[in-house]
Amino acid sequence: MAMNLTRRNFLKAASIAAASVPLSKVAAKAESGVVKAPLVAQGSFKDTQTAVGGVCEMCFWRCQLVGKIRDGRLIKLEGNPKSIDNGESICARGNAGVKLLYDPDRLKYPLKNVGKRGAPKWQRISWEEALDTCASKLKAVQEKYGSKGIAMFPHGSTASYPMNFFEHTVGTPNVSEASFFQCRGIRDTAYLATIGMPPGENVDMPNTKVMLLIGDHFGENIHVSHMKRYLKGLENGAKLIVVDPRYSASAAKSDIWIQIKPGTDTAFLLAIMNYLIQNEKYNADFVDEYGEGFDEMAEGIQEWTLEKAAKVCDIQASQIKEVAELLAANMPNVAIHPGRHVSWYGNDFQRQRALACLTGILGAFGVKGGFVPPKGPKGLAKVKWPSGDEEAEAIHHEEDIYPFSPPGTPTDLIRNAAIEGEPYPIKGCVVWGQNPIQTIPNQPMTIKMLEQMDFVMCVDVMPTDITMYADILLPDTSYLERYDYIKTGTQWNFADEQQQYIAPRMPLVAPGFERKESIYITNEIAKRMGYGDKIPVQTQEEMINKRLAPLNLSIESIRAEDGIHLQPGQDPYGDLELDIVFSSEDLEDYDFPAIPTYIPVEEPPAGFMRLLYGRSPVHTFNRTMNNAWLLAECDSNPVWVNDKLAAKLGLKEGDTVSFVNQDGVKSRTNTTVKVTPGIRQDCVYMYHGFGTMNKEMTLGHDKGVDDTSLITKLAVDPETGAHGMRNNFVKLIKVS
Ligand code: SF4
Repeated sequence: MAMNLTRRNFLKAASIAAASVPLSKVAAKAESGVVKAPLVAQGSFKDTQTAVGGVCEMCFWRCQLVGKIRDGRLIKLEGNPKSIDNGESICARGNAGVKLLYDPDRLKYPLKNVGKRGAPKWQRISWEEALDTCASKLKAVQEKYGSKGIAMFPHGSTASYPMNFFEHTVGTPNVSEASFFQCRGIRDTAYLATIGMPPGENVDMPNTKVMLLIGDHFGENIHVSHMKRYLKGLENGAKLIVVDPRYSASAAKSDIWIQIKPGTDTAFLLAIMNYLIQNEKYNADFVDEYGEGFDEMAEGIQEWTLEKAAKVCDIQASQIKEVAELLAANMPNVAIHPGRHVSWYGNDFQRQRALACLTGILGAFGVKGGFVPPKGPKGLAKVKWPSGDEEAEAIHHEEDIYPFSPPGTPTDLIRNAAIEGEPYPIKGCVVWGQNPIQTIPNQPMTIKMLEQMDFVMCVDVMPTDITMYADILLPDTSYLERYDYIKTGTQWNFADEQQQYIAPRMPLVAPGFERKESIYITNEIAKRMGYGDKIPVQTQEEMINKRLAPLNLSIESIRAEDGIHLQPGQDPYGDLELDIVFSSEDLEDYDFPAIPTYIPVEEPPAGFMRLLYGRSPVHTFNRTMNNAWLLAECDSNPVWVNDKLAAKLGLKEGDTVSFVNQDGVKSRTNTTVKVTPGIRQDCVYMYHGFGTMNKEMTLGHDKGVDDTSLITKLAVDPETGAHGMRNNFVKLIKVS
């Protein structure tokens, strides 16, 4: 039985300046539209008040905030002292939310493109005209091509309500979230196929004895309570094993650093499991109680001797043995981290299966220091758009491919269908909070897809690269100006007295200019498309109160609790309802390997290096690329080059270089070289998200190099359809 996941089971007008002018010049008046939001507590500074209920979204982690307000303006963000998650801590990006809120380049009014897609000329229009245009154009596509003729690219909490509308009520299956198909979808589906649940980042790092990180670069990849858990674990004496071709921030703190050849992680994991099984150093009692198909897996991975894996991974056999012995000596209290951005090589489902199986043979599920399924608050009501008349099958389900895909449709299938008109045309495009130019590999194809659309609408906070291709561009409220998401969880360190929290996002200031939130925009489009009778809620406040009602909570009751409701929690350990599928008949039914299997990846062509990319600690990809405070910390993405390789190439620290990839695609901009022994010679590394091409992002434009522009080749994961993006290869060209 394939999972065939759907989201259901997975989880006015204003005066108009008619001139066509650059976006940055569109009525850039002062923020006189900002008015005071409800405040509940007096702050300690004269004339400064504290607004509670903020929930950060400078990244997806959603730390709880308070805002310091003076004269109706937000002057500072801090962690909410009542938070049992992030506490009073927020990261650099969280702090810099103030600069996003008041960024002069922010979208302010509905805009119409009277130029070309990709070379827009913006004309300010009324909300009435903008909504009429969006609804009539999308309706025309729907009438001509069916609902499936509309594609949607959503991201973040702002997009969940409109995504539910387009997918569920309008009835298009062509919804593609970057967080699934270019990020964590493989992880979630591989763990679903192995243990019956997506893993989240639920490893008990504060209480573990050993942490194993495969490619995770904590310290560069920062999420506050997650970092607290990691650092507490190290402080408590946990041993740290880091497997990474690069000397990352985590590798710098490790006890064992395995400088593995890119793409071979599964071979490494199989050899560890085989060693543990052959030497009877696994948790046989746990496997007997919870395992399915263990004997088949044990037999199937026998070929993976330490020596064979060492050769494949280009490391020492003794290193693999050292890791296996350390895990065995400390099982079951070991934290095998499932990672987050795991779409790498097109063989990633297998690696994620191997990680889940390794956790299983060590008995590290539901125990202190191991993988601990979350036990957060339950009982929040669901508020959903009702089903419409039309429900088309997703392309991959019709074609019976990618049976283990995450919800939605793999992005390249939507893109190919749109460009080729097969299996059907896709002519309407809704982009809500996502920037597909910087998230989806092969930019020329994405641009081709956009160019052939009958209509493209974008809703965003900033003029990101994708907005250059919009016909209608709508200004969203930021996460600091609206009610929406309800963040729930337990305390970060599983303290003795268990507690849970419920924190709905509340505005810290009211929206300025003509920015509107997603429920208003969606409902107005829905009414105009003939779905007015299906609208589930009128406002974000109504949505949140409906969701909280079963728990006898409301926005006002939680505001009176300083923005966070706390309640008793549950013992995080034990009570396991788990079957660990070491050998899967479901996978075998689809001719996929039943047991975790190493699938070799393409080698770099002669003279090329594999392009690896990752996170900057002070940026969230391209989303923060116009933030003055964060650019002051980091405004480029130097490329890491091995010192010996640099000498061969005649490169030295600080040299300026451009790139050309295996398909002859050249980088539009340049960056500098960071020479280091801390990376293998067969790869180079840079931060993702730089090289913004939209000149309306006046601070971030052309800063650093856009790594996505060099990722033209997809390695599609056969089980899920997700996009492996590390099978692209580059040469460096010295510019100075
Ligand atoms: S980790 Fe930083 S950016 Fe992410 S939600 Fe927390 S404070 Fe905001």
